[in-house]
Amino acid sequence: TAQVALDDVTKEYDLGGTVRALDGVDLTLEPDSYTAVMGPSGSGKSTLLNLVGALDTPTSGGVFVAGEEVSALSERDRARLRGTEVGFIFQTFNLMPRLTAVENTALPLVFAGWSPDRRRDRAADLLSRVGLGDRLDHQPNQLSGGQRQRVAIARALAADPSLVLADEPTGNVDTDTGADIMRLLDDLQADGNTVLLVTHERRIATHADRIVHLRDGQIERIEEP
Ligand code: ADP
Ligand code: ADP
Repeated sequence: TAQVALDDVTKEYDLGGTVRALDGVDLTLEPDSYTAVMGPSGSGKSTLLNLVGALDTPTSGGVFVAGEEVSALSERDRARLRGTEVGFIFQTFNLMPRLTAVENTALPLVFAGWSPDRRRDRAADLLSRVGLGDRLDHQPNQLSGGQRQRVAIARALAADPSLVLADEPTGNVDTDTGADIMRLLDDLQADGNTVLLVTHERRIATHADRIVHLRDGQIERIEEP
C-alpha cells in the first residue's frame, strides 16, 4: 500500500474571500519513494506538505497517511500520527533556542514517553550520524546554519518516522552546506524512508526520483528526472 495518498484533494482558505490553494489533487507516494514538489510562490506547495503531514485537513477529498484517513482523525489522533509517522524539516530549522542540540533532538521522544537516559543516548547517536557528535551540548546560537539544520534533521528522525517532509531545507544555508544537507536527505531515502521535499530550486529537486510541478493548486505535470 502507498505511504501517502491524496484523492481528489481540494483545500480552500477563507480569509475575507475564498482562496483555493489546492484544486482536485491526486497523488500517491509509495513507501521508500523520493518526491520533490516545485512550483511558483502561492502554487500550493506548503499547503500540500501541511496536508501530507497531517498538520491540516482538506476541504474535500481524502488524505491517507500510513493507512489512516487524516480528516477522519481527531486533532489528538492527528498529533499521534505526526509524532510516530512523520518527521518535519523546515527552512527556518524551528529549534528551541534555550535547549541544547541533544535536548532539541530528543524533544519528540519526550512526547513519546521515553526515559531521559534513553532519550539522550538516542539523540547523541543521531547527532553523531549527522556529523555533530562533538556539538551535543551546544545551543542553536552556538551553531552555524548548516549545523542547526543538521540538528533539525536529527530531531526529525528521533521517533524513527517512515515519512520525512522537508520544506525548502536548504533555503537558509550556503551552497556547500546545502549539498551536505541534501546528501543527508538522500541517505534517509536510501535507508528506507519516504521523502517529500518542497523546493523552488531545480538543482535541489533533481535529487528526487520524481518532480511534481504545481501551478495554481493543480498538478501541471509529473517529471522523472
Ligand atoms: P506555496 O507554498 O507554493 O507558496 P501556499 O500553499 O503557501 O503556496 O499557498 C497557496 C495559496 O493559499 C496562496 O494563495 C496562499 O496565500 C494561500 N494560503 C496558504 N495558507 C493560507 C492560510 N493559512 N490562510 C489563508 N490563505 C492561505
Ligand atoms: P513558502 O512558500 O516559502 O513555504 P509561504 O509564504 O507560502 O512560504 O507560507 C508560509 C506559511 O504561511 C505556510 O504555512 C502557509 O500556510 C502560510 N500562509 C501562506 N499564505 C498565507 C496567507 N495568505 N494567510 C495566512 N497564512 C498564509
